Amino acid sequence: MKLRTLAWLGLSAMVVLSPAGRAQEAGYPMTLIPTGKGPFTFPEGFQIPWDRIQIMVTEKMSPNLFVLHGSQGLDPAHPDASGGRAMALFGPDGVLMVDTENRQVAEKTLQAIRTFTNGPIRVLVNTHIHSDHTGANAFFAQQGALIYAQDNLRNEMLRPPARANGQPAPAPEPAAVPVATYQYNAATSGQPAVTFNMNGETVDFIPMMPSHTAGDTIVRFRKANVIYIEDFYRNFGYPFADQSNGGSIAGMLEAIDLIQKLAGPDTTLIPGHGHLIKKNDLLPYRTMLVDITAKVKTLRGQGKSLKDVLAANLTAPYDGKTEGDTQQSKDRFITEVYDEVTGFPPVVDGKRTMPARP
Ligand SMILES: [Zn+2]
Repeated sequence: MKLRTLAWLGLSAMVVLSPAGRAQEAGYPMTLIPTGKGPFTFPEGFQIPWDRIQIMVTEKMSPNLFVLHGSQGLDPAHPDASGGRAMALFGPDGVLMVDTENRQVAEKTLQAIRTFTNGPIRVLVNTHIHSDHTGANAFFAQQGALIYAQDNLRNEMLRPPARANGQPAPAPEPAAVPVATYQYNAATSGQPAVTFNMNGETVDFIPMMPSHTAGDTIVRFRKANVIYIEDFYRNFGYPFADQSNGGSIAGMLEAIDLIQKLAGPDTTLIPGHGHLIKKNDLLPYRTMLVDITAKVKTLRGQGKSLKDVLAANLTAPYDGKTEGDTQQSKDRFITEVYDEVTGFPPVVDGKRTMPARP
């Protein structure tokens, strides 16, 4: 154990060296408001009451690295906690944000940040395109943030895939579009595309293979020993690979394997939803992905229709251990696997044109 004075924060803090050799401050991470466990039910036609959703500091990862998340029980897409986690690193160099929550709660997200810093919002990185992570991009760009993301995310935003009903998706707000971009390269997988040295922390933006979408980035905070792993892993509901935006179940397996290399045993992993984990918690999830993929592949190889495969209830062995195991979540997962095990199209311009099912 060693003592170090964080003069730039005007604070004294105990610093513990973890076995990985990285510093983790005593008392951190700190969970202030745990995510809800449910079960949650919503009446037919329920509309999200945005005015009732609060954005709060739910976890502190270090004295100047906080996590923001929304209220439980009000957002049917994310009943455990509304929106996707956002993060703020703050101090004399200004604020670096990871993701922005939904557009409807942009002001509340800023207010939550203003409870701990008055610093200028300078940098924003998007972990993936979904609106619970990028919805307030334009708002935070107007606050001064320069937005970073993978090229694929920018392409998904500028030229979105058609909606499920075949209608074209609306054009994005120009200010929401990332301006500083980089690409995933399989030959340098795991290496940061961008590194920021700010507020006593070293922050790496690490582009990911197509997994949750084709434009994913994970964000590593070296000193706090934390990685924001976004949504290729979740522990509330079944896995979601957004295949029209380039996602892939096989890519999720690659993403899990990469985290095994990047994270130490004590590294805190922050999913976009659900509770915080360590890298060993990814392993049962990986086993489930492999098991379900093999079973679906066998059934589809026997000529079974999607309807037949859904009726086989392949997630049954996992339901008892999976929070948020709604029928909708199971069916979405099994459908993704069914679509991926044969004739899976490549990523083009950040998207996949999914073929019609037999
Ligand atoms: Zn999310």
